[in-house]
Amino acid sequence: MPSGYVCLTFDFDALSVWVDRGQLSATPRSRGEFAAVAVPRLLKTLSRRGLAATWFVPGHTAHTYPDLCREIRDHGHEIALHGYAHENVATMAVDAERAVLDRSIAAITEVTGVPARGFRAPAWDLSENTVALLTERGLRYDSSMMGHDHAPYWCRTGDRVDAAGTVWGAEAPLVEVPVSWTLDDLPYLEFLSSPARTLPGLRDPGEMFANWELDLRYMLRETAQGVLTVTCHPEVIGRGHRLLRLEEWLDRIAEEDVAFSTVAEVADLFAAGVELGTPKD
Ligand SMILES: [Zn+2]
Repeated sequence: MPSGYVCLTFDFDALSVWVDRGQLSATPRSRGEFAAVAVPRLLKTLSRRGLAATWFVPGHTAHTYPDLCREIRDHGHEIALHGYAHENVATMAVDAERAVLDRSIAAITEVTGVPARGFRAPAWDLSENTVALLTERGLRYDSSMMGHDHAPYWCRTGDRVDAAGTVWGAEAPLVEVPVSWTLDDLPYLEFLSSPARTLPGLRDPGEMFANWELDLRYMLRETAQGVLTVTCHPEVIGRGHRLLRLEEWLDRIAEEDVAFSTVAEVADLFAAGVELGTPKD
């Protein structure tokens, strides 16, 4: 058993995120198109190292780039759900959310021939119904929440949190493989501007990977079989200076006693009762 696990995840948003943002003039659309340029570069980087990753693919992307999605599958990667057109499900009524979920499940199955086993909410925001809907559709895991840094845990339904206090809901048969904004390339690197907000991004990718390496070192020192889940976006990480830093980081952390696993593999281990991310004495 390795000392820890690293889950490399890629959110292949492509054009869908610009649909969700309502920015559909030519240049934002072309920013989405760049994701398709970057995917083969990433597949090469991963194949050269024999690494399997998890790709969260909106149904919209699967329908726009079906051949590329099949190429990802043929390289041995996992493909999981990420909405249809990158909808923020947190604000959706239950019937509308179920319809989007079903549409995204159908798109991934139709394009790849492989039913998805997990889900990541666009913008990492779940509604009160999401966990129950994912369970209802037989999905195994979610990877959108931030309740731990190194340990998967069971999702809950029916939590009640307000000014009066907190009442925890019941555990659901859905594994959470948690994420974090600090383990996401987008806030570090991507420049985004809209009337609502500006995300400056454009930082030195070396700084981001140095942070991720410190998180990994801390996890390996303090926990047994912890899981570090990092998130990249092809359109963000797929540029020269960032890809070179990504390659350096992958080669450096490969020297540690870690296994690179898909999110589904980690969820299966956890569901089978393997202890992941428990503190060392
Ligand atoms: Zn996304």
